[in-house]
Amino acid sequence: MSIEDILLEIRKRETFLITTHVNPEGDAIGSSLALALALSSIGKKVEVITQDPVPKGLKFLPSSDTIKQAKSIDRRFDAVITVDCGDLERVGFLKIDNIPGDILINIDHHVTNKGFGAVNFVEDAVASAQLIYDIMKRLNISLTPDIATCIYTAIMTETGSFRYSNTTSETFKIAQEMVSAGAMPWNIAEQIFNRNNIGRIKLLGLILESLDRSDDGKISWITVKEQMYRETGTSKEDVEDFINFPRSIEGVEVAILFRESNQGWKISLRSNGKVDVSNMALEFGGGGHSMAAGFFIQGGHEEVKKRVVNSARSFL
Ligand code: 5GP
Repeated sequence: MSIEDILLEIRKRETFLITTHVNPEGDAIGSSLALALALSSIGKKVEVITQDPVPKGLKFLPSSDTIKQAKSIDRRFDAVITVDCGDLERVGFLKIDNIPGDILINIDHHVTNKGFGAVNFVEDAVASAQLIYDIMKRLNISLTPDIATCIYTAIMTETGSFRYSNTTSETFKIAQEMVSAGAMPWNIAEQIFNRNNIGRIKLLGLILESLDRSDDGKISWITVKEQMYRETGTSKEDVEDFINFPRSIEGVEVAILFRESNQGWKISLRSNGKVDVSNMALEFGGGGHSMAAGFFIQGGHEEVKKRVVNSARSFL
C-alpha cells in the first residue's frame, strides 16, 4: 500500500480521530499535531486524543492544549489515524475489533510496524513527521509557522538534535524548509533542553547511582524505580533521554533502561551500531528501530535484568 491510498481516504472523509502511542515523545506529539493542523486547514474536522497527557516539555507546541485524554472512545469518526505506532497496542485505548471509525489508517516509520491498519503508510523515514510532511505536500497543503514548528520539533527530537544515524541530507532539507516556513530552532531548543525542573536533575542523580555494566563493558544499564519519582516529585516523562548516559560510555554497544511501571518493567534499548536492538525487542514482543527499541516485561527486577542483559549478550 502506498501514500496514494492514504490521500484517497483523506480526501473522501470528513471527520478524523488522530492518536498516537502511550508515553508520547516529540515525534508522536509533533506528528499528530502537524497532521491535525494540516487537515483542519483544508476543512476537515479533527480531534487528537491520546491515552497519556502531553509531556510538560512539549506543551509549547502550537495547539497542544487541544489534545484530549481518554481511556476509551464512545463516538464514531469517518477515519481513525494512528501516528508513530509500531503496533496497535501502543495506543492503549484502541482494540482492533472495536475501532471507533469506518477505517483505520496507520502512519508510521518503525521498521517493525505490524501493518495493522486497513490502509498503511509505513516507511523507514527519519521520523513519522516526515511522512506527515509527504502527505501534506501531496495534498497541496501549505506550511504554516505552527505546522513547521511541530514538524521541526518532531525531527529534531527523533534525531537527537541531528546527531543520530537516521540523520541524512534529506533530514536537513526538510528541517531547512521548516525553518523557512517559520520554525525557530533556538526557541524550540530552549523549550526542549532548557526547561528542566530541579526534580528532574535530582532524579538523574538517583538514576545515575544505579549505573552498571557488563564485565566486558559492552552492555551498560540504568534502573528507575517508582520510589525515585516520589522522592523527587517527578514522573516517567522526566526520564526521557537519560538512557543516553550509559550509551555515551566509550566501549558500550548496547544501553538498557529498566523502568518500573504499573504494567511491569518498561525496557528501553539503544545501540551504538553493532546490534540491531529492534530484533532484540521483537523477541520480547516489543519493537522499534535498529538503534532504539523497547518492550514491556513482567517479573522481579533481578530476574528481568538477567534475562535482558543475557539477551543483549547473545545479540553481541
Ligand atoms: P523508547 O525507548 O524511547 O521508549 O522507544 C524507542 C523506540 O522503540 C521508539 O521508536 C518506540 O516507538 C519503540 N518502542 C518502545 N517501546 C515499545 C513497545 O513496547 N512496543 C513497540 N512495538 N515499540 C516500542
